[in-house]
Amino acid sequence: MIIYDLNCDNNHRFEGWFQNADAFEAQLDEKLVCCPQCDSHNVRRVPSAVAISGHHVEQVRESSASSSVAPTSTALMPVGEHATALYRQLIQTIVSHSEDVGHSFADEARKIHYNEAPQRPIRGQASEDECDALRDEGIQILSLPVPKDEH
Ligand SMILES: [Zn+2]
Repeated sequence: MIIYDLNCDNNHRFEGWFQNADAFEAQLDEKLVCCPQCDSHNVRRVPSAVAISGHHVEQVRESSASSSVAPTSTALMPVGEHATALYRQLIQTIVSHSEDVGHSFADEARKIHYNEAPQRPIRGQASEDECDALRDEGIQILSLPVPKDEH
């Protein structure tokens, strides 16, 4: 693959991708090369600095994967049963790494926040109001609906 800088008679600059120089000439002859902006078939290669300097070097850019193909990242969103499994895993991890303080969650979270209790991950039950109050005090909590059989 080679890439040519091309110019149409309306002075639009664009790039053309061709298999090789011969393919470019052939496509140009058959008027298969046209400007993407105005559809003009009066297209010519833009003389490159290298050609102007007198070198008989084809001013082409090899379309190597490293320079022309930007890696795209794909975010995968788990759906359905897989998501449920992941979620249960997350819950399991939280459950096994935290101390269950039950209904005194809000009190305990506050104590930890104000250094009146040892720093540790805790879990427990709290009402919406308690959660709101904790957040208002700047206490970072995460409320998660725990699947039934984890209770
Ligand atoms: Zn054009």
